[in-house]
Amino acid sequence: MALENWNKDLEKEIIEFEIKNKLFKFREAEEKEVFSIDTPPPYLNRPIHIGQATTYAIMDMIARYRRKKNYNVIFPLGLDRNGLPIEMEAEKKYNMNILTTPREEYVDKCREILIEYSGETQSSFRKIGISFNSYEVNEEIGSVYETDSPKYRQLTQKTFLQLYKKGLIYEDEKVVNYCPGCKTTIADSEIDYKETESSFNTILFTVKETGEKIPIATTRPELMCSIGMVIFNPEDERWKNLDGKTAVTPLFNIEVPIKAHTLAKQDKGTGLVMMCSAGDYSDIRFFREHGIKPIISINIDGTMNSNAKEFEGLRVKKARAQIIETLKEKGLVTEEKKIQHKVPICERSKDEVEFIAQSEYYLKQLDYLEDVKKIGNQMNFTNPASKKIFDDWLNTVSTDWPISRRRYYATEVPLWYCKDCGEVILGSEDKYQQPWKELPETKTCPKCSSENIEGDKRVLDTWFDSSNTPLYIHHFGSDFFNKHPVCSLRPQGKEIVRTWLYYTVLKAYLMNGGVIFKDVYIHQHILDGKGFKMSKSKGNIIDPQKILDSYGAESFRLWAVTEGNLDQKDFMCSEQNIKAEQKTLNKLWNVSKFITQFKKNDSVKTKFTELDLTLKKEINELVKLADRDYNRYNFHIPIVKAKYFLNNTLSSNYLELVKSRCYNGEGKFKEEEKNGAIETLRYALEKLLYILYPVIPFTTNIIVKEIYGKDINEIPFPEIEDFVSKFTIEDIETLNNSIWKYKKNNNISLKDSIEKVVLPLKYEIIKDDIKVTHNIVNLEFGEGEEIII
Ligand SMILES: [Zn+2]
Ligand SMILES: [Zn+2]
Repeated sequence: MALENWNKDLEKEIIEFEIKNKLFKFREAEEKEVFSIDTPPPYLNRPIHIGQATTYAIMDMIARYRRKKNYNVIFPLGLDRNGLPIEMEAEKKYNMNILTTPREEYVDKCREILIEYSGETQSSFRKIGISFNSYEVNEEIGSVYETDSPKYRQLTQKTFLQLYKKGLIYEDEKVVNYCPGCKTTIADSEIDYKETESSFNTILFTVKETGEKIPIATTRPELMCSIGMVIFNPEDERWKNLDGKTAVTPLFNIEVPIKAHTLAKQDKGTGLVMMCSAGDYSDIRFFREHGIKPIISINIDGTMNSNAKEFEGLRVKKARAQIIETLKEKGLVTEEKKIQHKVPICERSKDEVEFIAQSEYYLKQLDYLEDVKKIGNQMNFTNPASKKIFDDWLNTVSTDWPISRRRYYATEVPLWYCKDCGEVILGSEDKYQQPWKELPETKTCPKCSSENIEGDKRVLDTWFDSSNTPLYIHHFGSDFFNKHPVCSLRPQGKEIVRTWLYYTVLKAYLMNGGVIFKDVYIHQHILDGKGFKMSKSKGNIIDPQKILDSYGAESFRLWAVTEGNLDQKDFMCSEQNIKAEQKTLNKLWNVSKFITQFKKNDSVKTKFTELDLTLKKEINELVKLADRDYNRYNFHIPIVKAKYFLNNTLSSNYLELVKSRCYNGEGKFKEEEKNGAIETLRYALEKLLYILYPVIPFTTNIIVKEIYGKDINEIPFPEIEDFVSKFTIEDIETLNNSIWKYKKNNNISLKDSIEKVVLPLKYEIIKDDIKVTHNIVNLEFGEGEEIII
């Protein structure tokens, strides 16, 4: 018997063995049903955080359980390597700038950063014991993939080209959300809001028809030169007489119509609102709705353009201050007050978003919102509240998806343009292309044969590539994909429902016409020990590496499912609770060790008592529950119950009752009955180990090998066996607890005898175990339900 003492380092050897021997490699040729998990690719340049460690551990449990249920599981690791996070890091490290650094050099520096970080992410996942199909980058299904590899980028370009050919992608000059920090267009889904203090100025405009002065309050007077309309609420009696008249702005003398519109709130400012094409978000929507041509007054670099006349060239804030000064000099400002209001900010860099006119490519989505809603209804969300996030987002989409970006380290827009005849030259679907530095395959314009060709310099939104993950892991376009067009599970965070989930579902629908996910598991967040969101600035980040080094992967994994179901609620991360799970592992180890010391008497048969049957029935109930709940991605309840079974049912109750029978030192039991107890213990422990395996695969692996001489990786999830017994585990626990309590209260040691106990009749069939265990001199049975001591 090689089970010495449990310690956290035992798991390391098994983890290395699993990886080295490629135990979980996906074998395409196998006939089994496929189960695929579309894991979220983490950013390569960021150490994985505690939330990721937890959610990947849960995904691993799902994968391990499905393998036990005889599925051919696709469980790859993707690495998100495109886009701003890498660029920002490279800009900082090499002190470079996208506006001044040559593109070739810029891209090389991004790659240097990526080389530096490669390996770090994989090693974190190894430590948690994640059973990815592979930890190697190659082109097989289920291996590690990188979103900037030529193969992945080729797929991204292929989806662009196919959607372009279907007429679903178009180029248009519109007012776009522009982040001055990231220096690029961003999509509505990438916008957050923050509360900020501004000064609310009431400015006097003139009514052209009557010459009267009307007060309009605004936080952004510099946008008067971008005005499109003045509105008031249709219910607002004060301004009804202005309907249909014309307002003239001070300083710029721009004439715009005055109309009634519900967007104006009677209680905000003066009730009159100037609508500008670069104001806040509702202004933008208003312009879109009314088809008013926007007047752009802010340049990409954040300065005012010629529309701002004498204020041209000034930065926005400076222009605002000077305009207010000028208006005051002319007596045109009647009130100035400080207010709190919400401004749109970039989700990544937190810069205030500006609205500028730019030509970008758009993917049509407005025409397909209803279809996507229907597709959403076909997907099974493990928590209905998560589906609501998805549906709510669909209800707010108000523009097509701008997919082109003016950055460098991402997948290039695969188009060229003939400068002589204007022809748009499409790239090839079969290879990755970089139009900014190479020519199309045709070399010349296919229409006019001109050599005067220019490649598109833009790249694609990184959501445009990360929305291809299920297509990529199922090898879109291959026979395999045609056989398996639906991915089994998308697990992901709630904060990226409107981006990653929505865009993936939309795109797969537009590409392939159907639903892409069978099940969707949206997880909540891990909070710090006090219930606060973790952030660098608060200094409350818990580093998963330290946790794993201190307590081992399995304590962490047990904790992750003991706390609750992460698709239902946020968790607090408590180091103490993680540490406490070491006790569970220790207990499992020690009970196993204890059980192995008993040897069956092979010269006689085995006879199971009612007590044995009760335990067998109980463990089968647990198998049934675990099977049902694991199948619904719910590990919490089965694991809490399995731990109770280990600590109470098995160790404290059944084992105590049969200890004497197992030793049978004084020959009080028949050898057949002794065998019954020993076999029942081994039976229940073995099933318990298989239930625990998806959560703690390493400790269970060692115990199963040592005690049963089996390889746990070869063993399917247990079948349910039916046993009938006359009472329940609760009956047995009640009995034991009553006697133990009595002895304790009367200062009798547990081993010492008690004179007389009267039990309900049903216990008579296990009287021998009871009598010996509790050392009862006179054990009698009565008609009642009471336990009398
Ligand atoms: Zn930004
Ligand atoms: Zn041409």
